[in-house]
Amino acid sequence: MESRLPKPTGLKRPMPSIKQILPTDRIKAATNANSTYSGSTTIQPLTRDLQNIIPQTLKRQGQVRAASPDPVKSTSATNRAKLRRSRSACDISEMRQNLKRNGMPNLPTIPTKFPRRAAGPPTTTTSQTTAARTVRAGSAPVKRPVAGSAPAPASVTTSQRPLPRTAAATATTNKSKSSASAAGGAASAPKRIAPYDFKARFHDLLEKHKALKTKYEKQVDDMGELESLPMQLEETQAKLIETESTLKHAQTDNECLQRQVKQQTEKIEMITSTLGETRLELQELKVTHQDIKSEHEFLSTEVQHLRRRNEELIRSNEQLAAELNTCREQLFQSNIERKELHNVVMDLRGNIRVFCRVRPPLESEAGRLMCNWIYHDEATVELQSLDAQAKSKMGQQIFNFDQVFHPNSNQIHIFEMVAPLIQSALDGYNICIFAYGQTGSGKTYTMDGVPDNVGVIPRTVDLLFDSIRNYRNLGWEYVIKATFLEIYNEVLYDLLSNDQKEMEIRMAKNCNKNEIYVSNITEETVTDPNHLRQLMELAKMNRATASTVGNERSSRSHAVTKLELIGHHAEKQETSIGSINLVDLAGSESPKTSIRMTETKNINRSLSELTNVILALLQKQDHIPYRNSKLTHLLMPALGGNSKTLMFINVSPFQDCFQESVKSLRFAASVNSCKVAKAKRNRFVNNSNNSSINSSSEK
Ligand code: ADP
Repeated sequence: MESRLPKPTGLKRPMPSIKQILPTDRIKAATNANSTYSGSTTIQPLTRDLQNIIPQTLKRQGQVRAASPDPVKSTSATNRAKLRRSRSACDISEMRQNLKRNGMPNLPTIPTKFPRRAAGPPTTTTSQTTAARTVRAGSAPVKRPVAGSAPAPASVTTSQRPLPRTAAATATTNKSKSSASAAGGAASAPKRIAPYDFKARFHDLLEKHKALKTKYEKQVDDMGELESLPMQLEETQAKLIETESTLKHAQTDNECLQRQVKQQTEKIEMITSTLGETRLELQELKVTHQDIKSEHEFLSTEVQHLRRRNEELIRSNEQLAAELNTCREQLFQSNIERKELHNVVMDLRGNIRVFCRVRPPLESEAGRLMCNWIYHDEATVELQSLDAQAKSKMGQQIFNFDQVFHPNSNQIHIFEMVAPLIQSALDGYNICIFAYGQTGSGKTYTMDGVPDNVGVIPRTVDLLFDSIRNYRNLGWEYVIKATFLEIYNEVLYDLLSNDQKEMEIRMAKNCNKNEIYVSNITEETVTDPNHLRQLMELAKMNRATASTVGNERSSRSHAVTKLELIGHHAEKQETSIGSINLVDLAGSESPKTSIRMTETKNINRSLSELTNVILALLQKQDHIPYRNSKLTHLLMPALGGNSKTLMFINVSPFQDCFQESVKSLRFAASVNSCKVAKAKRNRFVNNSNNSSINSSSEK
């Protein structure tokens, strides 16, 4: 049935384009957001419906605009849209449930733009009822506005029987179809109105008009509602997007927090493990601490004990220190007394002492004839020539000395007699030891010795350093300075240097008149015995280098080793300066050839000057002729003043050396005869012609 009522104007209002309603990118964003929203595919129908609803809506709008107002078609389209919307509502509801399950904030409720119509029975169309039921079933609290309160036409009301909810949608669809057909067929089904009954027909038409009008108004309302749906949808989608964004942020925050939680958990695990290890270490440390503590307690006790002991020792030490000081003082005084007594003894023995040493024949000299040596005692020796004529001519040859050393005397025995003089040198005296005799008589052997049987000089060195060590205990510190020189043909040579240099014997300024020094001589400070021995070897080597085979200089020159001993006692502020002159004189034999005449003259001169000086000293003459020769000048401090001189007279035992031996012994005896005679204690008796010795004592 075609209505003659005017067409609804509201349908002609332009609908917003779909682009305005839902931009494609927003739809896609919504789709994407939905796919990641809850991780469930149950949300997808919303997006799909949203995408589906748009062409449907467009299609319907186009139909509405293009077609005549066909209420049946329009209603059908509207119902389909409502159905889809109800499905969207279902999806939203489902999404809300998912959000609730996941603990997310719930979606805001979709507000309705339509004011709620006042009471009145809900109208009427089956589709509306079905839509309303569907919305209620989806738990959307939106109440559908209901068009007016006009009574529904009979054909419509017949379809308002209650239906089971589950079959509502199907029934609604069927009923809407049947209602469309009923609209046309219902008029013919009831009683027929007589054609002449215009009044009845008019009323019928009025009723129809009224029904149609009501239906029209209802559809206009639905259309208004439909028009507002895109806006609602857009708002809802915007909110959805916003919610999704919030959710995304929340998820990001959640992931971040989970990562932090994971990191913190790992940290906690690590810290827990470290804590476990630390606890173990702590346990071990506690054990160690306990050990250390007990050890500390033990040590503390020990320390206390030691402190007490230390205090006792300090007290004891103080007492001992006081005693030691007293002893030191006593020792110092005793040492002074000893020095004085020692020097008194030395004075009693005489400042010039003469030792005679007869050397033994060597294995190579077994065939040489020997004089007859008779050793009367330790200080008296008699020499007899094997030549009877010479023997009768020269008479008895008996000589007295401080000591006579027969050929069997060894180096140790000889040095025992020398050692007291060395002691005097450390006490500040000048000592001079020299060996006089013809070449080959044993001067060098006595002074230097041989490597396996060293002589006076090496033993002096050892004794000096031993004595210095002992003196150090008494507070004395010594410095030793050594010089080595040779006098050959009245010229001085430095045996520690090969340089040609001018050397002179000079008087020291501001000093004792006996103090002299040699200019340009090499002076070495000696710190240990080995150093001194090295210097001696060097001097011996330099002296040997100066000699030649044709001119054996070493036996024709005087070698003087001078050791200056400077002692200092810091506490007593005392200084002692002594010296030891060890002289290996040139051979005293007469010249055999004219080639060596000059040499011999010089040697004889120096030796005779030495004799003169010694005799002048012994006779206490006013003038001592020191300067008559280099040798006496050099030995001036050692021969005069507080000096002590020891002269070895070395003689060969052979008959062919008889003259030279007698000459040397006479010189030595003359020196010795000038001294105060002293008591003799031992007497050596010679029972044979040779060197066999018997001793006896004589007062
Ligand atoms: P001088 O120095 O007077 O010229 P030496 O000291 O060179 O004489 O002695 C000559 C030789 O006699 C050397 O071979 C030396 O070893 C030896 N001689 C000297 N005296 C003794 C002695 N008492 N015992 C053993 N050999 C000696």
